[in-house]
Amino acid sequence: MGKFNKDGRLMIPLTKRIKTASKKDEDKVRYVVNKAYCPDGCSLIDTEHEINGFPGLRIKFQRKGVEGEFVLSAIEGDFDKIILSGSLANGKKDDLFCPHCGAMIKKLINCSCKPDADMVVIGLTPHLDFNNAITFCNVTGCKNGTFVKSGDVIRHARL
Ligand SMILES: [Zn+2]
Ligand SMILES: [Zn+2]
Repeated sequence: MGKFNKDGRLMIPLTKRIKTASKKDEDKVRYVVNKAYCPDGCSLIDTEHEINGFPGLRIKFQRKGVEGEFVLSAIEGDFDKIILSGSLANGKKDDLFCPHCGAMIKKLINCSCKPDADMVVIGLTPHLDFNNAITFCNVTGCKNGTFVKSGDVIRHARL
């Protein structure tokens, strides 16, 4: 999966490279998030770090003995990350926080990949609205996540 650079930064490669928006004949529509907020309303969009052509979402992470920050791709289905500090470990779960105010990113439901894994939720509006949000798993390497509305995720999880 991920590959560590000499300075310890981890790049998680895209399995399938996504063409950026300039490609008009893109066969599949993808959501790209251009607004994202912590539970207390700070913007998480990091215009200094673009991933595959779009500013990413800056998030602080923490697990036993390790903490740091990464930037997550704003493109649906793209799990590329830029690690700014600290290190991620494949298969390991991290608690996620706002890098600005430290508020913990809310957990929505359990992810099926591991007993203690969580689907976290990031709102697309300053006031967290579960019907206007994205979710993804807090375990590195888990591909569960969606940019559809969280209400749909809850409905699917209950089927
Ligand atoms: Zn915040
Ligand atoms: Zn998972």
